[in-house]
Amino acid sequence: MRKTEMERFRRLLEDERDRVSRSLAKHSKIIQHEGDGSGPDLAKAHSNHMADQGTDEYQYEATIQFASTEGRYLYHIQEALERIENGSYGKCESCGGQIGLERLRALPYTRLCIECKEEEEKESV
Ligand SMILES: [Zn+2]
Repeated sequence: MRKTEMERFRRLLEDERDRVSRSLAKHSKIIQHEGDGSGPDLAKAHSNHMADQGTDEYQYEATIQFASTEGRYLYHIQEALERIENGSYGKCESCGGQIGLERLRALPYTRLCIECKEEEEKESV
């Protein structure tokens, strides 16, 4: 992959990381309330005064759902940024082939080329 291309993905991933971090920080205040240790680590790092937030069960569940989805997403973004740092970005983790640029543009944090991804999905069903 060309260096300019790599830099573009880096900026894209960094923007996305910041956006997701901010939205997780917002939600982590609600999760902190429960304090049962089931929330993502990121949530625990933030505010710990929650007793005054009246949240009903449903909102809590929805928030946990959101935070775990976003938390996983954030993790993938961070991993992709690490791969940019160590130069392995854009390489398929399974077959070692080059991941298509079109695919990376659609899913900048992907670790697998489209062929391997399809294989994986076949196996997991
Ligand atoms: Zn592959």
